[in-house]
Amino acid sequence: MLAISELTAGYHGVPVLHGVSLAVRTGEFVTVLGANGAGKSTLMQVLMGLLPSMSGRVEHRGEDLLRVPAHERVSRGIAYVPEGRRVFPALTVEENLRAVNLKHSATSYAEGLDTVFTLFPRLKERDIQLAGTLSGGEQQMLALGRALMSRPSLLLADEISLGLAPIIVDQLFEVFRDLNDSGVSILLAEQNALSALEYADTAYVLETGSVTREARASDLLTDASIVESYLQEL
Ligand code: ATP
Repeated sequence: MLAISELTAGYHGVPVLHGVSLAVRTGEFVTVLGANGAGKSTLMQVLMGLLPSMSGRVEHRGEDLLRVPAHERVSRGIAYVPEGRRVFPALTVEENLRAVNLKHSATSYAEGLDTVFTLFPRLKERDIQLAGTLSGGEQQMLALGRALMSRPSLLLADEISLGLAPIIVDQLFEVFRDLNDSGVSILLAEQNALSALEYADTAYVLETGSVTREARASDLLTDASIVESYLQEL
């Protein structure tokens, strides 16, 4: 589905990612673990075409993704949940969902809304509520809902658990599992290693812009060095 090889990217000519290689197979749930500043968001931004790469290749279903303009990546079935929720606070839940640009998607607004409201009945109940008055967890559901309006086959998500109560984080990860079970491939960047490793198939560890580990997620849950660095809360 997605093959990233030797990707280098950064800001103002200074690399932040140093030759990152990773793969997401069709139907796979992959997580990228990394501390603050490791480069997770930088990777996501390159994948979405929001930041140019310096070198390396990204293939999506055999196509050179780095040559596909950002606005066309949605037509390739790719969607993105950015870090920090970024919903429009002064718009209602439904207006937020309708504000998603589906011009380059094969999905209609009716189909998108149906998908999102089936997955999140809580958003349906609150469809006319202003997004700024939702709880943090509901805003994250809405941010995820916005990405799902185009019914993607590859979902990229950045730090979905940041600042949320553990019970809400569990609910969100259950949604990710359901999406994955329905065939959506997932690449999730997370600092919350415990949840990410419990739900993902494969994990990569990103340290100061380089991949230092690739393993089955379940294996890392019991790995002493990972427990020490990322699972202190255990
Ligand atoms: P976090 O979880 O804190 O967002 P991250 O792993 O996503 O961490 P990035 O946001 O990708 O990390 O940041 C990686 C490095 O790039 C950091 O050193 C950061 O300061 C730097 N950086 C990020 N955005 C910019 C920018 N717009 N201009 C310059 N440097 C940046």
